[in-house]
Amino acid sequence: MSVSHKLRQTQHPKTDLRLAVSACLMGQKVRYDGADKLHGFVAQTLAQWVELIPVCPEVEIGMGVPRPPIQVVEANGRLRAVGVDNPGLDVTREMNRFGRSMARQLVNIDGYIFKARSPSCGVSSTPLRRQDGGWKRGAGLFAARIMHHLPLLPVVEESALESPEQRLNFIQCVEAYRRWRIFAAQKPGRAQLNEYHRQERLSLMAHGAEGLRRLEQWLATLEGRLRKGDLETYGLQYMRQIARQASRRRHGVVLRHIAAQYCPGLDKKHYLRLKQVIDGYVRGDQRLVQVLAELRQFPHNGPLAGQSYLQPGLSFKLEV
Ligand code: SF4
Repeated sequence: MSVSHKLRQTQHPKTDLRLAVSACLMGQKVRYDGADKLHGFVAQTLAQWVELIPVCPEVEIGMGVPRPPIQVVEANGRLRAVGVDNPGLDVTREMNRFGRSMARQLVNIDGYIFKARSPSCGVSSTPLRRQDGGWKRGAGLFAARIMHHLPLLPVVEESALESPEQRLNFIQCVEAYRRWRIFAAQKPGRAQLNEYHRQERLSLMAHGAEGLRRLEQWLATLEGRLRKGDLETYGLQYMRQIARQASRRRHGVVLRHIAAQYCPGLDKKHYLRLKQVIDGYVRGDQRLVQVLAELRQFPHNGPLAGQSYLQPGLSFKLEV
């Protein structure tokens, strides 16, 4: 069955999020040796809530299962996918062609979970044999094509989804990318971009003060109507900022900022409750989703209205 046919068939009612995933992580026995690399969080937990689109590029280009293993080697400044035991086996052209074709088919997905260290699917951990015989690490050929053609798409290797913080960060990237994609498709003007940024500000703040400051400095340089390329520049900086790993300390800064917005309208009892909840999170006694669930019970208005940071998203369903 072709991948495009599978795309049309896949349905999931739980959320609108759609992620592509290396098929072996879903438990499909598509590895070169006929095995799988089933990943519990991806194939069991995440699969309950999002639509997952499994793709095995080596099978899709017709290499079959089992098949001779391949590796990535540098030759004349270019990377090639060749057989480990038979350097005459070269699937570089087929892999690059399939990568370009999939990038066009996957233009409406919200993220991609790749298998680490794979010569086709690795994002940054794939061993690459240099021309001088040494080794370095980089991207597998298929993943490199996807990232080249979809530069804002959140991508992650399954090995970077082990801790709750890593999972939360990736989910936040995926949700932010979806919001941005839908917003940018409406061809917004300057005023809409300012409002989008206002609603995203707390989410961005959680991923570091410096990146947010740079983004806002750039926004302040915009004059009059948006020019060609302005939206793309914002989108790139926005996604780079969201992709930075947020720490408990940074979330603590954001939560205290939220508390400061709430405080003027709160009586002492509610103020103390709010402070207790936030302090509990900063000490490590509570998860972020528990704190945000409490915070959402306070009325949202003024600068907090519409803030994406306070919206219940997939991270609440997964309780990461
Ligand atoms: S890592 Fe990629 S190419 Fe290798 S088996 Fe998994 S899906 Fe297929």
